[in-house]
Order: sequence, then C-alpha cells, then structure tokens
Amino acid sequence: MVGERAMAESSVGDASVPRAELVEWRERFGLVAGITERGAGEGFSLGFWTGEPVGVVMGRWQALRDAFRPGFGALQKAHQVHGTAVLWHQGVGQGWHVADAGDGHATTQSGLLLAVTVADCIPVYLTTSDGRAVALLHAGWRGTAAGVLEAGVRALLAASNGSPRDVVMHCGVGICGACYEVGEEVASAVLGEGASRGKQRLDLRAALCRRAEALGVGEVTVSPLCSSCHRDRFFSHRASVGKDGRMVAYLGIPKPASL
Ligand SMILES: [Zn+2]
Repeated sequence: MVGERAMAESSVGDASVPRAELVEWRERFGLVAGITERGAGEGFSLGFWTGEPVGVVMGRWQALRDAFRPGFGALQKAHQVHGTAVLWHQGVGQGWHVADAGDGHATTQSGLLLAVTVADCIPVYLTTSDGRAVALLHAGWRGTAAGVLEAGVRALLAASNGSPRDVVMHCGVGICGACYEVGEEVASAVLGEGASRGKQRLDLRAALCRRAEALGVGEVTVSPLCSSCHRDRFFSHRASVGKDGRMVAYLGIPKPASL
C-alpha cells in the first residue's frame, strides 16, 4: 500500500432517505456503498434503542429498503456488540434479516444489502478488486482493538481465494481524531505501545489504516467527513452526549441490470 487517499461520500439528494454514497465504488466495482444522513426536521434516525416510537423508526427502515429496490430484495443487519464476529451470508431469502450478534457481514450474494448502524463508530467497507465479494464492518475502539478489521479481511479472502493486495477498503463517516478524546486505557487498547500517557485524541480511522497496512491491504481510502464536526449532516453519539440517533451504513452487490 502506498498510503491512503481521501474519498468523500456524496449526497444523493433523496429527501425521503437522506444519504451519501461512494460514487467511485459504483463506477469502479458496480457496488452500492454509502451511509444515511441526519436529514431535516426530526431527522432520519434508524436506531432501535432511542425513545422514538417504534412505528416511526420502522417506517424509516421501510423507506430505506424501498429506496434500494429493485437492486436489493434483502437486507441483513445484526445486533451489534462491539465484538469481532463477521457473519457470512449466502442464500439469504428476500426480506429483512436481523442476526443475534455480529459487528461485520460478508457476502458474495447479489441483491443482499449489508447494513451496520453507527454514530461515531467507523463503518469499514471492504471489497475484492473485482467487486465480487464484499464485507461491511462496525468498528469502534473496542472492535478495532479486538481485531474486527482482521476478521473482516479474513472473511473476504476466504470467499474469494484472493490475497490481501486484492482487497480495497474505505473507512467511512465517523468521529475524527480532533473530536475523539479518550483515556489512556482506551488509547493503549487501540494503539498498544504507540499510546501516550493520560487523556489524548484518538484517530480511529488512522488506527484502522495502520492495521490495514500491516495486513497488506492493497488500497485504502478514508472519508474526510466527521460525524461530530459535521453534525448538521450526521449523528454523533459523543457530540450529543448520547442523545443523537443512529445512521445506517450499507454495502451490497446489486442484482444485475438494476443499477
Ligand atoms: Zn471531528
């Protein structure tokens, strides 16, 4: 790898499902990759664990699913536990699927949209360079320290028989180093001996990039967008002191001829 490059998600301009997407991944790999935005008014939170009425939140999930038809007849998410389990999905039927526990998803199945919920944690998008296998990870400090990226790359390579050099990775919208102050324990869990003493700023995406480099990942891009700096567009758990909603990051191989 010759160092990571910045690549921003572009707003799609769909008011019913406000979102931003990686145009380059659509053009290069034929993939749909992006993240929902805060939206106007009450906002477009997709979090289950907020005080909002269930019907309101479920209505937004329905709108999200509708926005991706006909390319995607199925959506897969999981209850996230800040762990390293990357769930492999194949032969998934139509519908909306929620697995019990997992912080990553991988598949080669077209028509299946992978989803993780985030609000500061980093969504990590992975694909093989031929666009035939994809993985999507939820990486906060716990998952990053525990090795969710390594597990995701392993899952992708198991599916494709490729080498790490064939893997393309994008670190999406999440909290930036300037906005993320952590204690020494958190920093040393993520950075090991690279951590300083006491309170410090932690750049999770930089930490993920270093791990990707150690794995030999062929190409890495990083979003310049921060969930906390850009709260007008995104939700931030940290900046809202836990009051904000949740965004959904998504990645999938659309059914042929549906792009
Ligand atoms: Zn920031």
